[in-house]
Amino acid sequence: MNDFLNKLQAKYEQLMEGRYGQIDPLNTALLVFSCLLLLLNLFVHSWILRILIVLALAYAVFRMVSKNITARSRENAFFEKYTDGLLKGLRKLWRHLFGAGGYRYYSCPKCHKELRVPRGHGRVQISCPHCSHSFVKNT
Ligand SMILES: [Zn+2]
Repeated sequence: MNDFLNKLQAKYEQLMEGRYGQIDPLNTALLVFSCLLLLLNLFVHSWILRILIVLALAYAVFRMVSKNITARSRENAFFEKYTDGLLKGLRKLWRHLFGAGGYRYYSCPKCHKELRVPRGHGRVQISCPHCSHSFVKNT
């Protein structure tokens, strides 16, 4: 069995040699997009959604097996350039709603800078290190 898996892996590496073969942010977005459309299609049953799913998956597979690595890297850089702000905004929203790494995140009401406070200390007075404004929050 193990020998079979090793042979299979060797074949796969041989097949993917010189190909783009990366799950980059653009491919991740395409896969996530397809999954969301698949879920939506469970309720809507639309042929347009089915075509979009197939196109997104086909584009992701095409990008994986493409030998034009420069063009695929350029596409990904273009994608990242235009989605970077959106992703940063979503990550910030997530941090503020659910916290991260044992910290709660707040925005200073006066200067709007992001402040990080250790979680689980109850009601605390937070003093902004940027503008010295003080406010009270539950951590
Ligand atoms: Zn401040």
